[in-house]
Amino acid sequence: QTNLETSDPELAAIIKKEKERQREGLEMIASENYTSVAVLDCLSSCLTNKYSEGYPGKRYYGGNEYIDMVELLAQARGRELFNLDADKWGVNVQPYSGSPANLAVYTGVCRPHDRIMGLDLPDGGHLTHGFFTPTKKISATSIFFESMPYKVNPTTGIIDYDKLAEAAKTFRPQVIIAGISCYSRLLDYKRFREICDDVGAYLMADMAHVAGLVAAGLIPSPFEYADIVSTTTHKTLRGPRAGVIFFRKGVRSTKPNGDKVLYDLEERINQAVFPALQGGPHNNAIAGIATAFKQAKSPEFKEYQTRVIKNAKVLCKGLIEKGYVVATGGTDVHLVLVDVRTAGLTGAKAEYILELVGIACNKNTVPGDKSALNPSGIRLGTPALTTRGLNEKDIEQVVSFIDEALKAGAEAAKAAAGPKLADYHKVFNDNEKIKNKVND
Ligand code: PLP
Repeated sequence: QTNLETSDPELAAIIKKEKERQREGLEMIASENYTSVAVLDCLSSCLTNKYSEGYPGKRYYGGNEYIDMVELLAQARGRELFNLDADKWGVNVQPYSGSPANLAVYTGVCRPHDRIMGLDLPDGGHLTHGFFTPTKKISATSIFFESMPYKVNPTTGIIDYDKLAEAAKTFRPQVIIAGISCYSRLLDYKRFREICDDVGAYLMADMAHVAGLVAAGLIPSPFEYADIVSTTTHKTLRGPRAGVIFFRKGVRSTKPNGDKVLYDLEERINQAVFPALQGGPHNNAIAGIATAFKQAKSPEFKEYQTRVIKNAKVLCKGLIEKGYVVATGGTDVHLVLVDVRTAGLTGAKAEYILELVGIACNKNTVPGDKSALNPSGIRLGTPALTTRGLNEKDIEQVVSFIDEALKAGAEAAKAAAGPKLADYHKVFNDNEKIKNKVND
């Protein structure tokens, strides 16, 4: 057996370059993190060789004694991490990632063309929460189900719960999703629950972005109110690239028309994951989930998540002091949404400028943006930088880098005949000061 370096030096060299990029740059994409060596060990283990369609004790293949142990361990640790009683909550650790997890939830609890409501993508929701444009159904969620998004108040940037409640009464959704990809404030799960109870809808919380913060007990947990909780395991949770679904067992409430809402979710969701949507589980990733859940129970993990939030608050305050407008005026979590129009830029240009100086982030719509295609902001997150050990003082330095780069980029845009991206490239390649700072 030869390793990658020997058997495929071409590919090994590309991976090495990516490793260097991850090492040398400032990673501020809010959904990314650096996972642990233990998780990487799981991902590259022999577990990847094994087929195990089905669930522990009920497989369609032989030889699954140890695979069953891995999956049961991941399930048990998931319940333990989020303080869930095994009689009340089931868990499925097989979804390949967050998007398949969400599709499995809708497939399990909805019939084709049933109605769902999620936070609109330009307002901070995720594609899988039902995104469509006036001309195109973009997400499979909007192709197979009828989606009506709810929105944030364009002035405050906060979710407009009153409008959601009103719209839900007319639209009568089967599922309401409480989850965010770019929203820096806490969700009011109690209010979501009331709205769902009013119309007999399931409350699904998608805590993909904030799962690590929930696990550490630093922000409110959705489990008190939700029927179903989906998550990815690779963002703040710092595990492998994968998805998990938690679902309630037993009967909970009565619909307004008097019908009992039965939580036969266990069978429906497990069925939806396999065999409806997926085949053999990725057992190497499931092992990674198990060990990430173990790490997330540790005091070090709580301390890490505390620093993630502190760093995000310092980032936010620093940018406001430099004159940037931050959506909702602050942050309670790991991310900050910055309106870059005050610097004379668009989100796309700001993303590009920051990339040139080694800072990775993504362009994002800000509340009130007319077009999702030409957003006015950037999303910045602190999970990855915090994993690398950056503290509040370091983040102040990062704020200066960002500010200097954006201001110089805006100057370059003005100086150039037209604001062409190639012009920025040249300015930054020539700007030793910025390059040296970032490489410090
Ligand atoms: N849900 C939310 C809230 C997300 O932010 C994301 C990804 O960014 C997903 C689901 C989908 O996860 P994945 O990219 O693993 O499919």
